[in-house]
Amino acid sequence: MRNPFETEERAAWRRTLADFVAAEITPHADAWDEAGEVPWSLHERLGAFGVWGFGIEERWGGLGFDDAFMRCAYQEEIARCGAGGVGAAVNGRSISVAPIALLGTDELRARVLPDVLSGRKGSSLAITEPGGGSDVANMSTRARRDGNHWVIDGEKTFITGGTKSSFYVVGARTGGEGMKGISLFLVEADITGFSRTALSRKQGWWASDTATLHFDGVRVPTENLLGEEGRGFLAIMRNFNYERIGMTAGCLGAMKACFEDSVAWARERKTFGAPLIERQAIRHKLADMSARIDATEALVNQICWLMNEGETPAAEIAKAKVFGSKSLEFVASEAMQIMGGAGYLRGGRIERTWREVKVMAIGGGSEEVMRDLAARQMGL
Ligand SMILES: Cc1cc2nc3c(=O)[nH]c(=O)nc-3n(C[C@H](O)[C@H](O)[C@H](O)COP(=O)(O)OP(=O)(O)OC[C@H]3O[C@@H](n4cnc5c(N)ncnc54)[C@H](O)[C@@H]3O)c2cc1C
Repeated sequence: MRNPFETEERAAWRRTLADFVAAEITPHADAWDEAGEVPWSLHERLGAFGVWGFGIEERWGGLGFDDAFMRCAYQEEIARCGAGGVGAAVNGRSISVAPIALLGTDELRARVLPDVLSGRKGSSLAITEPGGGSDVANMSTRARRDGNHWVIDGEKTFITGGTKSSFYVVGARTGGEGMKGISLFLVEADITGFSRTALSRKQGWWASDTATLHFDGVRVPTENLLGEEGRGFLAIMRNFNYERIGMTAGCLGAMKACFEDSVAWARERKTFGAPLIERQAIRHKLADMSARIDATEALVNQICWLMNEGETPAAEIAKAKVFGSKSLEFVASEAMQIMGGAGYLRGGRIERTWREVKVMAIGGGSEEVMRDLAARQMGL
């Protein structure tokens, strides 16, 4: 659908990324997924475009400007390779750099951001714990002050990029119960007392490493506190807005990949003497799939416009994330149905996407939690 907010600059950005994904990512996506990793050169090649640098000053390696449309175009285009794990493998950064850029000291920004934004090093966001991810205010990893240090004890799990990152933005309890007792810290991977265990054998996102992180008396200097003590929950919630609209854009890209492949198949495949595309039952499926894609795209665009206006439309973002993952579930299912048995074979964009529907419905705030949040934000 034509985007009423399109500009030449945004169109050029999208074209550049779309060309790069089509030529340099999609042909390798299956092999990388099967291998369980992407080559590190991909981090650096994407870093050279500046894809993680929105809203971050140039002196720290950022782009020096922000644009929600361009952020989302990146998430959408990389998802078109039809392997969410490829995007996840490199995008742990996109959910962890903002707290460093917004809340870190200049010394910390200078030491971390240029390496991470260029793709030379990785960074991850560590919020979820073995005891639960939805109830962020109830996290139990603790940090206690000891002179010029904070000492962190606890565990985080399901951390994207977890085995490979050099830097972690970690939520930990520095005060009493509830959201006001939470602070954010930067933890470096080579520090004493920190270890990580890979979580293998996921249903999807194979190309992305996921880990459990262990903090056993990890001592970080007080400068590694990101923002004010006890203000971490708010920072986490603000950060979630970008993660969630990015994931919605990712659903959109994956849906477009499924749609393209099912149309191509329906044109090619003949049954009972005619191509599938001529069958009304198939045409209706394609029209319904296309309607979900259009609706998700319209939501993403409208929310990007609001975000560029300086608003934080948390309810709209939460609703869009649910709409995006539910639409993806529908589109991936119908796409596989159109392909028949061939769609069930491992390795195509549709089959991979079908395996990855659930992570979009759970990660970054589950559908249930998103609906609750939206209702609360709407004053219900
Ligand atoms: C592949 C993958 C990558 C991830 N990457 C990261 C990462 O990089 N960093 C990070 O911090 N986390 C990450 N996560 C964790 C993710 O954010 C959590 O899985 C998610 O927030 C849900 O938490 P949980 O799995 O602990 O489920 P729980 O919180 O235990 O919830 C279980 C189920 O109950 C539902 N539920 C919970 N509370 C309610 C309620 N009040 N009412 C109704 N239903 C409810 C949930 O919706 C869910 O369906 C990742 C997860 C996956 C699968």
